[in-house]
This record gives sequence, C-alpha cells and structure tokens, in this order.
Amino acid sequence: MQRSAESGRLAEFRRSLAGVERWLLPPACLLCDAPVPTGEGDMLICGPCRSRWRPVSGPFCPRCGQPGLADLECRLCAAWPPGLARVRSAVWLLDGARDVVHHLKYQGWWRVAESLAESMRHLEPLTGQVSLIPIPLGSRRLRERGYNQSERIAEALGRRVDIEVRTDILRRVRETPTQTALTPEGRQANVAGAFRAKGASGLRCVLVDDVFTTGATLAEAGAALAAGGAAGIDAVTFARAPELVR
Ligand SMILES: [Zn+2]
Ligand SMILES: [Zn+2]
Repeated sequence: MQRSAESGRLAEFRRSLAGVERWLLPPACLLCDAPVPTGEGDMLICGPCRSRWRPVSGPFCPRCGQPGLADLECRLCAAWPPGLARVRSAVWLLDGARDVVHHLKYQGWWRVAESLAESMRHLEPLTGQVSLIPIPLGSRRLRERGYNQSERIAEALGRRVDIEVRTDILRRVRETPTQTALTPEGRQANVAGAFRAKGASGLRCVLVDDVFTTGATLAEAGAALAAGGAAGIDAVTFARAPELVR
C-alpha cells in the first residue's frame, strides 16, 4: 500500500520535473519535438508544423465566413440574431491545428496562443480603429482552467497587430452547459441571453474566440454588444470546425 503511494508520488515528481525541463531546455515544438529557433520567440510550434495548418479560403459567406457557393442562402447564419456582421477564421480544425487547440484548452499550454495569433494576424476584420473582445468564460470553467484561452489569444493578437484588448465590455451572465452534443438550433437556445455588454456604445468590436463551430456563441455575444450600442461587430477565430462543410 505504502509502496504504491510512494511510486505515485514519484510519478508525480517525474511529471513536474518534465514540466520544469520543458521551460529550461531550448524550446521544442509541442507537435513534432523539433527545436524551435529562439528568434521565433515564444512560439512553441515550429514553422513547418504551422505551415501544415490548412487555411480557410474563400469564396465565403459574407457574414459567417463559411466557404461555399456565394449565391446560395447560407444555412449556417440565417437564424443568427442581428448584430454580428462578419466572422473570419484562420485555419480548419484538423490534424495539428486540432491538437494545438487541445494543448491550449486542456493541457495548460496557454503560451501556445502566440502561434495561434500569428496565423490570425491577417484576418480581414483586424483593420482600422477596433477593439478586441475575447469571449468570456463562465466562472466555473475559468476556475478549472486557470485562464481564459480566448483572452490569451486576444492578447497575443493585440500585441501583433497593435489593437487594444478590452476585457471589461462583455460579461457572461449565465453559465452555459457544454455545446458539443447539441444541434445548431439547440446551441443557439443554449446561449440565448448568456452575455451582457457594458460600455460598448460607439465601439467597433472584434470578438475573439478559439474555435468557430456553429457560431452560436459569437452570434449571441454579438447580439449583446449590439444591444449595448456597439458601432460595429465582427469576429475572428483561430480555427473552424470542418463538420459543417457542405
Ligand atoms: Zn513542429
Ligand atoms: Zn453564413
């Protein structure tokens, strides 16, 4: 009994040692273990791995940014509440891009946000006098994770494109159950009334989130900003879930 408790402690010690080692050694790519040149700063993902992420390319639905036939009515955003005008995503949530989101959300690797932000910096909505607004996390999930991944992405992105990040505008007023098992309609109902905006009047907002799935959360946050008097509402995400590709 005691022996197994001891070996448990030893395993735990080894794990924390591996974590420390990761900080001390020259940076290695989280996806392939190749060294990442120190000139690339805090990237955690090497250039070749980043170059394998598949960009989301047009023609897009002008509103939700889903690639498709431009002359067909878009089923994805037709039922969104008014407010959110335009969403653009950098890459498809496939292979390495999916792994990197997992590292960011579930493995504590918040510094990987730098790599995500690097691939988002040229997205259309990031121009002119705008403010980046990360999608707020519910307080329970924030406690569990220790940080808001969308906020980490927004901060890394804001530094790159010289745009301010505002975390004081949008607030989650209701904790929402996880969306993963829900239909698109169920997702919209699940997040209805989940956000409230304060101080948004006249502000041109760009919402920031890690993944676009059906856009229900972004659309609801956009509706709250519109109700708060925002002058313009766009959104950017790192990845887009491919399940909805028609
Ligand atoms: Zn790599
Ligand atoms: Zn659309």
